Amino acid sequence: MTTSTEELAQKAEQALSLIRNHPDGIVQSELWKELGIDSRTCSRILKHLEDEGKISRKSVKGNTYLVTWVKSDKKIDPMLIMAGEAILPCVACTEECDVPSCKMLEDWIYELVFAEME
Ligand code: SF4
Repeated sequence: MTTSTEELAQKAEQALSLIRNHPDGIVQSELWKELGIDSRTCSRILKHLEDEGKISRKSVKGNTYLVTWVKSDKKIDPMLIMAGEAILPCVACTEECDVPSCKMLEDWIYELVFAEME
């Protein structure tokens, strides 16, 4: 089975989401079945995610691996969500998200542009 780079990226996102939803970890063989991909493709994706430090794999029995999400300890610069005095609206948003047509986000981006000009 050949999988395009775009499909792989999409499956990697889905895999990460599934892994995050299993705080105690998910067995690799269960993961590839849930993703609807073969074990080899799953291994490639997990190797990539592991190299990026997003997941860890540990052998629990023979060829059975438990995959867990690695919580990032990177600190987020709070200034990245500020535009002058305006905080990024997504932080406390409860709306149905539609980024391209979001007026709140558009207004915040304008604030950001003006804050950068000051
Ligand atoms: S883009 Fe708009 S709708 Fe989406 S989370 Fe941010 S503020 Fe909310």
